[in-house]
Amino acid sequence: MGNIAIDGPAGAGKSTIAKLVAKELGFVYVDTGAMYRAMALFMINNNVAPDDSDKISATCQDADITIKYENGEQVVFLNDENVNGKIRNEEVGKMASSSSANGDVRKKLVELQQKLAKSTDVVMDGRDIGTVVLPDATLKVYLTASSRVRAERRFKELTAKGVECNIDVIEKDIIDRDYRDMHRENSPLMQAEDAVLVDSSDMTIDEVARRIVDLYKEKI
Ligand code: C5P
Repeated sequence: MGNIAIDGPAGAGKSTIAKLVAKELGFVYVDTGAMYRAMALFMINNNVAPDDSDKISATCQDADITIKYENGEQVVFLNDENVNGKIRNEEVGKMASSSSANGDVRKKLVELQQKLAKSTDVVMDGRDIGTVVLPDATLKVYLTASSRVRAERRFKELTAKGVECNIDVIEKDIIDRDYRDMHRENSPLMQAEDAVLVDSSDMTIDEVARRIVDLYKEKI
């Protein structure tokens, strides 16, 4: 058995797909974005500016981030507080894409991620899983979709929750976030050489999950 790494840009459906794949194979799903978001929340709570890298480096040393599983769901704790309900918003997402560029933040979280993957079979999603965190993963997938399709999915999600939003603004935020993630010095988002590219623009969630499970079965 072995680990599955899923990387890709914001809104490609990584977490939805990774959860399904993990369930199907009996693996543990690890959402690394949630860890970077918890760290970002800590920066916001401490009034750290997104471009103050010295302060981010110093502040991250006081953040203890841990993961637990409750009823099969990943729960992120920041200094012993369950922060799952506080990290899924644009403010935290934006700060995460700045603070995650910091080498000290990455060092701390990559260590935690590697420890988790050593203790059990995981489906782990993020930006640098196939390139940095799990270079020996059994299967690496680079999951993407056009920015318009990703924005449409997010728009539908928000509208269903009753949140008023504008699709062009959402698409611009997605493009900006991808740009930051792809052009940073530390662990930029890119497709690992040995990763399989899956473009989900014209695929359903179930089709993508099936494709990844099939790819994994071919590998073992
Ligand atoms: O995937 P999610 O949108 O929750 O990730 C939030 C941010 O965390 C990303 O935009 C990215 O900057 C950062 N991240 C990262 N490396 C990972 C996972 C997330 O840099 N492995």
